[in-house]
Amino acid sequence: MGNTININDYKKKEKKPDCKDEMIQGLIHNKSLRIAICRVTDTVKTAQSLHKLDPVTTIALGRALASCAVMGSTLKREDAYVQCHFKADGAYISNILAEYIQPGSLRGFVNPAQIGPLIKSADSAPQSVGEAVGNQGTLSVKTGHKSASNPYTAICKLQSVEIAEDIAHYYLESEQCPTILGAGVHLSKSGEVLGAGAILIQKIAGDEDIDEEILEHYEQQVSDNLHISEKLAKGESLHKILSDISIVGSPEPNMQAQPLGFNCFCSHQRMAMALISLGEEELRRTELEIGKLETVCHFCSKTYNFSVEQLLKH
Ligand SMILES: [Zn+2]
Repeated sequence: MGNTININDYKKKEKKPDCKDEMIQGLIHNKSLRIAICRVTDTVKTAQSLHKLDPVTTIALGRALASCAVMGSTLKREDAYVQCHFKADGAYISNILAEYIQPGSLRGFVNPAQIGPLIKSADSAPQSVGEAVGNQGTLSVKTGHKSASNPYTAICKLQSVEIAEDIAHYYLESEQCPTILGAGVHLSKSGEVLGAGAILIQKIAGDEDIDEEILEHYEQQVSDNLHISEKLAKGESLHKILSDISIVGSPEPNMQAQPLGFNCFCSHQRMAMALISLGEEELRRTELEIGKLETVCHFCSKTYNFSVEQLLKH
């Protein structure tokens, strides 16, 4: 996974801020804790523009994408993926789906893309992602490999619905793996994405030696002091943020870097195969009724157009 960099080298060299999306990860405290931190500002900007998101849906999807990226630090194989699907009923947002695929690809969507049209004039707009999603629903976490057909899926009930807390709850409930996870998106007053990122600190399975005080230190840093998206918006680098929350005197780990970006794998061929599965009769009826055969990729909003004759040649 990318190059190995000693964090101390970065501290010496650092003059200008990081300006690209990436994740850095490593093992700390005698390899008893996994730590991963990411910047996904440009990825969230791309998602916002592709899906025409409003501020609340940008924050919701951005937190999910950032969380998925750091969850990716637990994956090993080249084509491994992790997908988080928040499904809610009753409030404004009904689906948030984010996916990380090795090495470094992120994609996702949120339904609806804009909640503005759903807010009745008598109601006040939701002030948080939690309010927009509501607390009735589930989080499904799917892990697997693109080249294999048997993913593992775990489903938990929604908790706070501020995204990162629910994923930390999933790790504890489904994998018995204590995990500290913080994710944030910082917007300007006009809704522009200024900073987005996440941090994950996780106990390595089977290692019981870690001092509870160390975990408490990181938990407090992430919940009270971190404000990762604001720091990224100010141009602070991932290494600087990481060194600021590290315990003084703890040995600095070798960290690995992985570039990140919004990347969808949809194609004309894949979309054609999905349409063909509807059957010739249904396709001809739809083409006659609507005048065209059009399909849109949920993950990137790209539109694909076909004719029945084209599809039948596949
Ligand atoms: Zn796509």
